[in-house]
Amino acid sequence: MTRVALIAHDEKKPDLLEFAQAHETQLAAYDLIATGTTGKRLMETTDLEVERKESGPLGGDLMIGSEVAENKLDGIVFLRDPLRAQPHEPDISALLRICDVHDTALATNLASATFLIEGLAD
Ligand code: PGA
Repeated sequence: MTRVALIAHDEKKPDLLEFAQAHETQLAAYDLIATGTTGKRLMETTDLEVERKESGPLGGDLMIGSEVAENKLDGIVFLRDPLRAQPHEPDISALLRICDVHDTALATNLASATFLIEGLAD
């Protein structure tokens, strides 16, 4: 089954929730994982089942990165906040890097997230 990770920094969570609602039918066909708070908000806002990892600052990005390293993930939507520094910046860089190492599809904004979710459906 297609396995997709969803992550959003706090300022971007409203965008991700709106995106998930707009693509709920498509996302429901995927095996979904998320960082802790993102996953919690997704399950509160939609009917999607989401496997929650730790919160990002507590290692959630690294947990998702380890799935990338094991080739378990088909794609990641990661709505980063480009305007604020994050305490776990090294973890974020590690996740982006491991996606490039394994050529795993990664969308970091809404425009590319739509391509990713629709592309995985093909
Ligand atoms: P969160 O983590 O979903 O637990 O907020 C996201 C992040 O800040 O990387």
